[in-house]
Amino acid sequence: MSKLSVKDLDLKGRRVFVRVDFNVPVKEGKVTDDTRIRAAVPTINYISEHGGRVILASHLGRPKGEKVEKYSLAPVAVYLAKVLGRHILFVDDCVGEAVKAKISEMKDGDIALLENLRFHPEEEKNDDEFSRQLADLCDVYVNDAFGAAHRAHASTVGITKYVKQAAAGLLMEKELAYLGKVINDPEHPFVAILGGAKVSDKIAVIEALIDRKVDRLLIGGAMAYTFFKAEGFTVGKSLVEDDKLDVAREIMKKAEAAGVQLLLPTDHQVVDSYDPLNSRKTIPIEFTNAGLVGLDIGIETIALFSDSLKDAKTVIWNGPMGVFEEKPFDEGTVGIAKAVAEAADRGTTVIVGGGDSVAAVVAAGVADHITHISTGGGATLEFLAGDKLPGVEALNDK
Ligand code: AMP
Repeated sequence: MSKLSVKDLDLKGRRVFVRVDFNVPVKEGKVTDDTRIRAAVPTINYISEHGGRVILASHLGRPKGEKVEKYSLAPVAVYLAKVLGRHILFVDDCVGEAVKAKISEMKDGDIALLENLRFHPEEEKNDDEFSRQLADLCDVYVNDAFGAAHRAHASTVGITKYVKQAAAGLLMEKELAYLGKVINDPEHPFVAILGGAKVSDKIAVIEALIDRKVDRLLIGGAMAYTFFKAEGFTVGKSLVEDDKLDVAREIMKKAEAAGVQLLLPTDHQVVDSYDPLNSRKTIPIEFTNAGLVGLDIGIETIALFSDSLKDAKTVIWNGPMGVFEEKPFDEGTVGIAKAVAEAADRGTTVIVGGGDSVAAVVAAGVADHITHISTGGGATLEFLAGDKLPGVEALNDK
């Protein structure tokens, strides 16, 4: 890793501004998925144990530059205190004299969490003055928010101009190491599983994966219907991007020319669009008629996709195989979660990214088996597509 690491910093007695990604789901004041909070713990503990004063800052949701109670990070502070088993000082803003005064009372090893950065519109505008005010709170800066690294905001980019040192946190380093290996030097056979609603969100990743000689590309979720329609199949009322049929054809051509095996579902779970509650059945793709909606991959496809992981040395998975939020249309996604976990148990490097796929491995009870769970959604996709992440670029070189 060419960027300065938190391990390179002299932390004792220093005020350390740590940009974390605590953009977690909160319902009725309770954190409902703590993957991202737990992922930041090693960096927080490392700085605290080395005598740094840990000033955590994050965004949560899209409050659009205003103070909106439901996007407060206060419940996250309570949760973090429980996870760490110690006191967390919650500061109800992120810039200004009152905030500075509270920070100045911190002792070595203490941990504070600032209020949502996006309560200030200047955060997303990467505003210079706001960046300077954030920098004013600290001696050194650490970015551990991989999930926000694709955004050039004040807390990810602007602030780095005004601090003496800007380093990567342990989670950031881990993400870059795993994902960097996948794009630069994957062990083969290398299999990528992509799903979700839209082809358009994933075109850049698919093309980069083909260029980087992925061996097999497995496509499920609604995305697959755009490919089926492009091939002339009837897809009924399934979700399709009609303006991406040419793109799908191009991808299929490119994959063939590069010797990449592109696998699409062979069967799917469908409902009748006029009687969605009583008509669920699993049918081969070619039996789809005009009134049907495809909502999940079928059992034969789960077996086909699982089989194609048998000899894999590297697997990445991003995106659900169906409308997994609604049972029983989670069966395909859960089936794939179990299959990638089994691959990991056999020694395959398995990387799962994207909120939905991560939720699926957690729901299937197999999260512990996965080699690396990426905390990024958009950031993971952009990095895999070969884009430079502004939040990483802005850090100091070693
Ligand atoms: P994305 O944000 O592109 O990763 O897409 C995630 C969404 O895709 C989830 O909310 C799923 O419900 C949705 N999805 C997956 N498969 C299907 C499908 N067959 N029909 C409609 N939506 C789907």
